[in-house]
Formats: sequence, structure tokens, C-alpha cells
Amino acid sequence: MTADGALRMGAARIGRLEAEVLLAHLLGCSRGDLILRPGMAVDAGAFEAMLARREAGEPLAYIMGVREFWSLDFAVTRDVLIPRPDSETLVAAALEGDFARVLDLGTGSGALLLACLHERAGARGLGVDSSAAALAVARGNAAALGLGRRADFALGDWGAGIGERFDLVLCNPPYVETGAILSVEVRDFEPAGALFAGADGLDAYRVLVPQLPGLMAPGGRAILEIGWRQADAVLGLARAAGLVGEVRRDLAGRDRALVLRGDGA
Ligand code: GLN
Repeated sequence: MTADGALRMGAARIGRLEAEVLLAHLLGCSRGDLILRPGMAVDAGAFEAMLARREAGEPLAYIMGVREFWSLDFAVTRDVLIPRPDSETLVAAALEGDFARVLDLGTGSGALLLACLHERAGARGLGVDSSAAALAVARGNAAALGLGRRADFALGDWGAGIGERFDLVLCNPPYVETGAILSVEVRDFEPAGALFAGADGLDAYRVLVPQLPGLMAPGGRAILEIGWRQADAVLGLARAAGLVGEVRRDLAGRDRALVLRGDGA
């Protein structure tokens, strides 16, 4: 099969854009190359398998095994949440201030931690996750990005048992209400443990927010991702833990992150 033929078949089944993205990934070329070199040979069986997965609702990122975040390539498997552009709000907020030691709770692919370390040459960090499979993905990403020496990873339950304080604590916990209606892509393919957090979506914050004061160095910050209607509730939990905070919005103008500091810091 030629690239031209594969594209026509793919476009009819999953749409032109996604067909181009998958085919370019399979051939290791750019989307422009597909047009410039329509006669390139395509492994028809491999392309068919990709199309079938996409038709079943699997996200492009899992089919290709990679997703860009903060202009960096992150390997992803179904053990980790696919990094979302919304979460770049947390990286931008982190870079508003200084940090040398970073903790990322629920690191998943490592996207938040590694993007922050990439931007600060001297910084070091620890990524914690309750999934060993996710940690393997994060370790691979750290190595691939040349950050392996500055990033450690450990199995853990949020901040439990971490006897160290950090200038910056990052966390994108699960915050979706159990039973919320999600797209097939998210619901059937992404790890439920990284998405769902009880009837009101706040269960993870109830555990981890009270841990934050014990994890933050004097003058340190904690930056949490939140659902767009959760700012007041999570700020309430933070206040009860002795923290004060500000809201940051994502590119859609929705509340997306809280920047928390110790009261008086
Ligand atoms: N923003 C994600 C979604 O709704 C949720 C991520 C999360 O729970 N941390 O697809």
C-alpha cells in the first residue's frame, strides 16, 4: 500500500487529520512528507491495526505511545493519564517563582515534574505515584529527556511518609466525580484511579491537602490542579490546613490551578 492509498482509506474511517497523524507516526515522517511523497510504502497491516484501535475509541496518544506537553515529548501508556494542555497552567504558575527541590504527587507520566526540571537547570525533584507501572513510564521519560540524574521516583500514597520539605509541591490528583459522564476515549482507556475521586471529586484533596504544610519548605509553594468548579471547595480545605491560595485559569478561562502558600509566608 502507498501513503496516498493509506491516507484515503484512513481519512474515510477516522477523518483526514487523525489519519495523517497516525500515518506520519508509523512512517516516522512529517505530515507534509506524506503529501510530498505519496508513493511511500506503508505496512498495511500495521496501519490497519492503528485504524482499528482508533475506531474503537482509543486516544491517539496511546496508539502512538507519545504525547507532547510543554513542547516536550512524553511516552505514555494506558498506565498513565495522557498529559493535557490544561495542566500546562501548573507549569506556568510554577515558573512564576524560584525552586530548587520539587515534589510531584501522583506524577503519572512525570509530565509536571519533568517540565519544571527542564525549565530550571539546577532543580531536582521527586515524583511519587501509587502505581509502579506509572513510575516505570515516568523514569523512562526522565531518562529520555536527559533529566534522569535530577529526578527520583518512588512508590507512595500521596505525601505519606515523605520526611523532607520542598520549595515546590505539584499535584494533579484525580478530581472527577464518580459517575460523571466522560467521553469514551477517557472513560474506557485512561486509568480510572487517575480520574475519579468520590461523589464530589474531592476525595483525593481531602487526603493530600492536609499533608501539604508538612511537605512545604518555609516560603514554599504548592500548586494543585483542580476541576473548573472546585476552586472554592479546595481553597476551603487549604484554609483549614493553614494555607492561603490564589486561582490560576487555563487557556479556556476556567479555574484550573491553585497556588498555595503557608499563611504568613
Ligand atoms: N482534566 C481531566 C479530564 O477531565 C481530569 C484529570 C484529573 O482528574 N486529574 O479529562
